[in-house]
Amino acid sequence: MTKAYGAYAADKPLEPLTITRRATGHHDVKIEIAYCGVCHSDLHTVRSEWAGTLYPCVPGHEIVGRVTEVGHHVSKFKVGDLVGVGCMVDSCRECDDCKEGLENYCEHMVGTYNGPTQDAPGHTLGGYSQQIVVDENYVLKIKHSADQLAAVAPLLCAGITTYSPLRHWNVGPGKKVGVVGIGGLGHMGIKLAHAMGAYVVAFTTSESKKAEAHKLGADEVVVSKDPEQMAKHTKSFDFILNTVAASHNLDIFTALLKRDGTMTLVGVPADPHQSPNVSILIGKRAAIAGSMIGGIAETQEMLDFCAEHNIVADIELIKAEQINEAYERMLKGDVKYRFVIDSSTL
Ligand code: NAP
Ligand code: ZN
Ligand code: ZN
Repeated sequence: MTKAYGAYAADKPLEPLTITRRATGHHDVKIEIAYCGVCHSDLHTVRSEWAGTLYPCVPGHEIVGRVTEVGHHVSKFKVGDLVGVGCMVDSCRECDDCKEGLENYCEHMVGTYNGPTQDAPGHTLGGYSQQIVVDENYVLKIKHSADQLAAVAPLLCAGITTYSPLRHWNVGPGKKVGVVGIGGLGHMGIKLAHAMGAYVVAFTTSESKKAEAHKLGADEVVVSKDPEQMAKHTKSFDFILNTVAASHNLDIFTALLKRDGTMTLVGVPADPHQSPNVSILIGKRAAIAGSMIGGIAETQEMLDFCAEHNIVADIELIKAEQINEAYERMLKGDVKYRFVIDSSTL
């Protein structure tokens, strides 16, 4: 029996519950979870804002902990290793996406929670729990020091979801990059784009985040509600990473792209954005794109990059019983910048 936190219905708060994990199979790694980050996707899913949530729902896909058992055929991990699990725990392993290391785009990718599985209760249960059993191919090595572990947890989703598009769209020295929304994803986007050598401009709706965004590595911070501040950046960005979790006017940001610039959306709001003004895009061959997490190899690359550059998330550590309150605060943008559950409080 494993203690967990989850919800029985979309309109119910999260509460303590007990789950079972499968026995450690030949290719599996059993992990004692130390910390689990709280992603906005957890909230979207628990409340069935994207529809299709299976209950009971135990969210959590920013998992870090220690290996406590390994199967006979496990070669990459041993008992005692510090490891992470991100947004997926399996995929088909045969399609082009899987063969290219982009398991995140596999049609049969199995999410860490709410994904299909033969394990009870028929859908995967995530990291708001004491233990998890995962195939070794979907487990990551953590090279940060053990005392940084809680702040490493958010890298498993917020880190890779921002790292992957920054790399794909060649962010680096000489590039002007915008990051929209300074939440869990956005604050990692600022840190990573800065570490990659880009000139970084953060966009926020929260005046209160303005001063501190500089500390994250932003060269400039713009309050996006102020048209005058926005106008100064017209047609100047190579790339904009938009992490906003709610539907909003995209045109005020596409107006800031240079010719051939791209704005990549990673936020998945419950309600659609208003249709973008395509003439803004057509007039400068600009693009709006999307991106979803990252593959396993790239997640390892991101973790190693962060260990090398001493990058972790800025977190607020919470007890499991504070999770419902944390969701309310996340909705208000009142977190700097990621809640992380201390699993010992389960
Ligand atoms: P979060 O911590 O809540 O951050 C979102 C930020 O968006 C807020 O901090 C706020 O920043 C800004 N914001 C919120 N409401 C807004 C509004 N109405 N107008 C303008 N800005 C607003 O959420 P997160 O965990 O970073 O996740 C962000 C989104 O990405 C969610 O939709 C999540 O589901 C999605 N996601 C996608 C992937 C993927 O693979 N594509 C992976 C993980 C998460 P300011 O206060 O600075 O304005
Ligand atoms: Zn996430
Ligand atoms: Zn596949």
